[in-house]
Amino acid sequence: MSNQLELTQVDAYYGKIQALRGISLSVRNGEIVTLLGSNGAGKSTTLKTISELVRVRNGSIRFEGEDIGKLSPHQIVDRGIVHVPEGRRVFGAMTVTENLELGSFPKRKDTQFVKRTMEHVFELFPRLKERHKQKAGTLSGGEQQMLAIGRGLMSGPKLLMLDEPSMGLAPIVVQDIMKIIKKINSEGTTVLLVEQNAKAALKLAHTGYVIETGQITIQDTAEKLRQDDSIVKAYLANP
Ligand code: ATP
Repeated sequence: MSNQLELTQVDAYYGKIQALRGISLSVRNGEIVTLLGSNGAGKSTTLKTISELVRVRNGSIRFEGEDIGKLSPHQIVDRGIVHVPEGRRVFGAMTVTENLELGSFPKRKDTQFVKRTMEHVFELFPRLKERHKQKAGTLSGGEQQMLAIGRGLMSGPKLLMLDEPSMGLAPIVVQDIMKIIKKINSEGTTVLLVEQNAKAALKLAHTGYVIETGQITIQDTAEKLRQDDSIVKAYLANP
């Protein structure tokens, strides 16, 4: 597998505060990579630098060989990178279908693609199909998360970046979401998964990174990370 995404020595700041310190990580075509770490470690900021919501100060980000560090957020989406942010952020006053249509904006001219993809999203998430006319604000937390992921799929991404999809959800719902992420990946989409629920994420991922105070401290196969007692103690303690 070749590298699809490669971050090399990335530094990022909020004003004078340095949030990322020399982050290097790579994601191979077709794999699931998880980025673990505690609150405030820099996980969300890493995703934001990839989607260009936060500027890279030093270092480089390459996607399919292209330096994408100076592109705009919409150019990033055009390249095939979709970021599903923390906290779902669905449009509560709009219906499920309308939220999905918003996700298809980059492909809006290809009506056949939009139709086909929406059907596929409804296959992945039958609950969204049942509730397609319902206002998103009235969905449960798990359903809103499904909608946020479904919306992300509507532009047909090559790389799907998910920021804490398990946040605030009951264990059974977390399992459902993780199964669907696995299915999406098995259909050919690369996944970069930020999680505090390390246990759930490592079950699914091929590779894992641990980030602490803006730096990568551990990097290994998910299998090794699952077996390493010290890691289990330090990072799998979260629910
Ligand atoms: P969490 O799970 O709590 O979101 P995280 O690992 O995703 O944690 P980040 O959100 O990336 O962490 O935050 C990394 C650091 O950057 C933290 O110290 C945080 O306080 C700081 N930070 C994040 N967003 C901003 C912002 N908009 N302005 C200033 N500082 C910020």
